[in-house]
Amino acid sequence: MATIKLEIVSPDRVVYEADIGMLIVRSTGGELGILPHHAPLVTGLLPHALRVRFGADRDEQLIAVAGGFMEVTPEKISVLATAAEQPIDIDINRAKEAYARAKKRIAQFHQSTEAAKDIDVERAELALRRAIARLNATHTAYDE
Ligand code: ATP
Repeated sequence: MATIKLEIVSPDRVVYEADIGMLIVRSTGGELGILPHHAPLVTGLLPHALRVRFGADRDEQLIAVAGGFMEVTPEKISVLATAAEQPIDIDINRAKEAYARAKKRIAQFHQSTEAAKDIDVERAELALRRAIARLNATHTAYDE
């Protein structure tokens, strides 16, 4: 079966490297499935759990990506992430706390109080998406 190289780098390390069968990502333009020999492409990535497949079976390896860019050539996929973690490296409690903090800020923003004016809701929404990406990568349930 044809494979394509995948390299995921964060600012401080190589997070993941493998020859894979398919990568499924959430790009700024929507969900994309990248197979070997894909046409060259550069796109932004949203915070999400990207999905790596190796063969025809549906087994997937999940990797949390906080955001960044992806460059595809026919032979290689390079993900340059602002932060990325394999499930084993994810601190679930930290992600749950980040999730709760972001949810609280977003709820406060929607109450028309004095304190709401100081809340950067876009920042909170992104923090929430990063926390959800980490929880999804570890198959941890959360209340939407
Ligand atoms: P927090 O509010 O918990 O810091 P965050 O979403 O703001 O979360 P990031 O800015 O995306 O964190 O990442 C900062 C660094 O911390 C990165 O190196 C990232 O890999 C790491 N990191 C963040 N959350 C977790 C987690 N739950 N488990 C493991 N590493 C994490």
